[in-house]
Amino acid sequence: MSFSQKIKNFEIEKNEFLREFSNQYGYNGKIDIIRENEYPHLKGSTIYPKSVFTSFTKDLTNNLYGNPHSRNPSAQNTSKRVDQVRARILKHFNAKPEEYQVIFTQNATAAIKLVGEIFPWSIGKSNFKYLRESHNSLIGLRNFAKESNSPNIQVVTEDDLNILFTQCNFSGQRFPLSWISQIKKFNTEKSKFLVLLDSAAYSSTSLLSLIDKDNSPDFVVLSFYKMFGFPTGLGALIIKSELNSILKKRYFGGGTINAISYDKPWQEFKKDLSERYEDGTLNFLDIIALDHSFNFMKEIYMDYKFITKHVTSLIKFLYIKMKSYQHWNGKSVCIIHSNNDFSNNKIQGPIFNFNARRSDGSWIGFIELEKLASVNGIHIGAGTHCNPGCMAKWVNLSSDEIIKNFKNGKLCGDDNDIFDSKPTGTIRISLGAMTTIEDILIWLDFFKTYFVETNKVANIMETNNVANNIRTTEIINNNSHITLKRLILYPIKSCHGFTIPSSISWPIINQGLLHDREWMLISIETGRALSQKL
Ligand SMILES: *Cc1c(COP(=O)(O)O)cnc(C)c1O
Repeated sequence: MSFSQKIKNFEIEKNEFLREFSNQYGYNGKIDIIRENEYPHLKGSTIYPKSVFTSFTKDLTNNLYGNPHSRNPSAQNTSKRVDQVRARILKHFNAKPEEYQVIFTQNATAAIKLVGEIFPWSIGKSNFKYLRESHNSLIGLRNFAKESNSPNIQVVTEDDLNILFTQCNFSGQRFPLSWISQIKKFNTEKSKFLVLLDSAAYSSTSLLSLIDKDNSPDFVVLSFYKMFGFPTGLGALIIKSELNSILKKRYFGGGTINAISYDKPWQEFKKDLSERYEDGTLNFLDIIALDHSFNFMKEIYMDYKFITKHVTSLIKFLYIKMKSYQHWNGKSVCIIHSNNDFSNNKIQGPIFNFNARRSDGSWIGFIELEKLASVNGIHIGAGTHCNPGCMAKWVNLSSDEIIKNFKNGKLCGDDNDIFDSKPTGTIRISLGAMTTIEDILIWLDFFKTYFVETNKVANIMETNNVANNIRTTEIINNNSHITLKRLILYPIKSCHGFTIPSSISWPIINQGLLHDREWMLISIETGRALSQKL
């Protein structure tokens, strides 16, 4: 079936969606034109639009931008543009230029790492607390805390805090920013909490406001590819200017100094926060590209609030449908990793995270699902999404189990999607400003076709009348410690294989693995079996 035919068949479902969400969805009827003109290359979440490249390359060919660490006209040109972009970022986040400054980094992770490096850790005294749902990049800060002999490195949960919005990259759950002012209440003359907000996921489809400085975070980290799709390799740390006096410059490089002695341990650093902490040459062309991305967003989408509305309508519809899917025996197909009903974007962002089960209750491996989606041209996220705290919270995979699995050979990013009968990762569907209802309908159609069982089928796992079973990770020969890594079944000769999940042992019969090459396609014309070999 061709793509356009398929879309036509979605009319009933699309009308069902539009009946409820037409006032939120689609930027007043412009979405299809936006998709056709700007994202002809796209079939998924935030991706770069076409016209940004046209205007960016035009800008680069009409103007000369040199390394800003000089005084010549092309360098001045660059400095001016870079400063304009800094101002634009502050304006986007409603931050006053006298209260906040922008430090450019390579990505959100580098911004977090910079905070760890320049934070005024007090040896044996500074505490570090992080939310269970933190991204790996944030958990990494605990090693700085450990190095400064922190007496208290603590994971906190919602219940511990019950304290403006931040978003979990795993489930899309958003936490209240009002926690910040509550944390600040613990400040005393002698000790102070500084709050870092990881806004890398949240800022892609929602607007964070830093207008109320006293109840806003001290550090905000961002990733621009997540906001705009382009440029990549550029992030930022937005930082309160008042912190300048207490932060510690450690490593220095490039143009960050006012004066330096080459042989005495003496140097004077620049005072301005960005000049002081941006070591080396800035990624100045990409910073200029950022200006074009901001222009594009304003021209096409006008205001982030429309993006928020648009993605909220889509994610709610997706949720309702996925939740409703049942196998023939009434069992739900999806285990959804969220406690929200996806209608309130203050507590839930446009991320749908889940695992799926077969009618017999066994897990469908997330890699198997991801591979099949890829073959069908659908791009989804699969894995632990750099978020071990959420794996514990939603999949019940404890730290002890992670350590045990590692000792038994399980590595991050390998092909074992089920280990010790538990999923080692999940499926994440992330929506962006340019996602359409057709994208959602294509996904739902795919998912229903392959994973919702409508009839009871003979369960091949239950076949007992065979002599032997085999499973991956089985040690075949005790002396040589050979491990069987993967079993792939090719039920139809010359067609796509099926990876047997490592948790399942597979029967061996006289001809080999049960069901392997049991069927073949015969050409009516030649009467011969079809094969990929000529
Ligand atoms: C993506 C992401 C990061 C890491 O961002 P990079 O730009 O890849 O370093 C950190 N935290 C959250 C919440 C994210 O979604």
